[in-house]
Amino acid sequence: MSECLFCKIVARTIPATLVYEDDLVVAFDDINPQAPTHTLVIPRKHVDSIAELHDSDVGLLGHLMLAGNKIAKLKKIADAGYRFVINTGTHGGQTVFHLHLHVLGGRHMAWPPG
Ligand code: AMP
Ligand code: ZN
Repeated sequence: MSECLFCKIVARTIPATLVYEDDLVVAFDDINPQAPTHTLVIPRKHVDSIAELHDSDVGLLGHLMLAGNKIAKLKKIADAGYRFVINTGTHGGQTVFHLHLHVLGGRHMAWPPG
């Protein structure tokens, strides 16, 4: 069994508030939300980060982003607008090393990010 936290969420061995799932991705609410809507979309297969994806993963990456759009609609933030974030590596602020797309919305997002 993988020690990866998000692999355990995929396997349902630790709980999460599931928002969406299909054959390739699982989405669940972030445990420490930074906005009224803060959902994470992850591939079912373990990938450390977006930096580890290969040309052959283009379909998976597109699927992940399009799932983010579906979640924005499900969460009713699509019309007002939303933000996708993929933190990558140490300077990118990544803390969980299983690729995840943050879907943030429900408030105005500042720029530049911190
Ligand atoms: P990152 O800093 O981009 O790696 O984001 C990791 C995210 O995972 C953070 O926003 C955490 O709040 C979130 N997180 C950590 N553990 C859990 C968990 N058990 N369920 C849901 N979200 C989590
Ligand atoms: Zn994993």
